[in-house]
Amino acid sequence: MVSALIDHDTKHWKADLVKRIFLPFEADTILSIPLSYTLPDDKLIWMGNRRGEFTVRSAYYVALPIVESIQEGESSCGDPRTQLWKKVWHFNLPSKIRIFAWRACMNALPTMLNLKIRGVCTEAICPTCDQCIENTSHAFLECDTPRSIWSLWSGRPAFLENRQADIVDVALHVICNGSSQDLETFFVTAWYIWFNRNQIVFESTSLLPSQIWDSALRLAKDFKGALSPVVQLHDCRTTHWSLPPPGFYKVQVHGASSLDCLSSSIGVIIGDSSGHVTAALSRPLPACYSPEAAEAIALEHGIILAHEMNIPHVLLESDSLSTVQSIHAKKTGGPLGHIFGGIHSSLRQFSSWSLHHLKRDRNRAAHDLAQLAKSTGTSQVWKGTTPPLPRVLFPPDPS
Ligand SMILES: [Zn+2]
Repeated sequence: MVSALIDHDTKHWKADLVKRIFLPFEADTILSIPLSYTLPDDKLIWMGNRRGEFTVRSAYYVALPIVESIQEGESSCGDPRTQLWKKVWHFNLPSKIRIFAWRACMNALPTMLNLKIRGVCTEAICPTCDQCIENTSHAFLECDTPRSIWSLWSGRPAFLENRQADIVDVALHVICNGSSQDLETFFVTAWYIWFNRNQIVFESTSLLPSQIWDSALRLAKDFKGALSPVVQLHDCRTTHWSLPPPGFYKVQVHGASSLDCLSSSIGVIIGDSSGHVTAALSRPLPACYSPEAAEAIALEHGIILAHEMNIPHVLLESDSLSTVQSIHAKKTGGPLGHIFGGIHSSLRQFSSWSLHHLKRDRNRAAHDLAQLAKSTGTSQVWKGTTPPLPRVLFPPDPS
């Protein structure tokens, strides 16, 4: 049944057929599901948690924001914070940040206190500091970790130091005393603080305050850059690219998504031990996927391109830490499990391979190729030739 909706040559959904058979919102949902290039057997996957298995608890988390958004939407007339909502919905930021900002201001995030009030858990202790009750004010303003992060903001609003303030107070203060850019910086940083807090809860890992601050600034900058139709060439002097050892090829991949559902695209570049580009790929994806899905698809296509070039030994590099960790952990569950499974079987065909995480600023070539696909909307593959765009990004190793 499902396989009839998939084009087995392109490995994409048959979009016209899906749109003919299903209602528009159903078709949009189906077309947004990323497919593995290896087209594994059909399988039921629950999208409400990372394992891909249904639990009542995860269903609660899926339903809660939907129910609350309906309730809050009905009661938002006459809200004195109307000015704040208007600003939030006009942010030049990914939609996930706008939705997060709104939920944070409505006290609709699943903080430990909110979960305790709803009977989901019995303790409300902050998972970050393990000392205080975690309500919204504590999570974003009072806890030591967010305080260290805010201290890195040189032009931060003085109101951030006010221990009696809540997140709405700070936002309204910024509207009156700062710029739109300040308000965006405040919420994109708060989003990263929440992301880090969730990493602690669900993954037992966390980022340093400086990493969170840098990531927040980069997210806002990258999003604005992604909306620009002009592809920026990077100065080779600021780009570092270490050569693979003799006999090995380096495969760098990047998946890019604009989170307001404009588009997704991937870039792949393969270089040899003398610094020559041997193959590259720049491809728009057929739908707008999550950043995690786009990164996984980019890795899958990097591996396919390396196979097509008959490369036996590969050093794969991705700037998506979660993708690298999922492959190393041999994950096959969750919404992307089928793609990770396909990657695993493809990796077995190499004589040797390794997969590493690299910082995004060291992945400029693949990044530019993904941006090129996004701006041109065309798919391009170079084999045995150097793509014109990132040529300057592969300087000979100065050592
Ligand atoms: Zn805390």
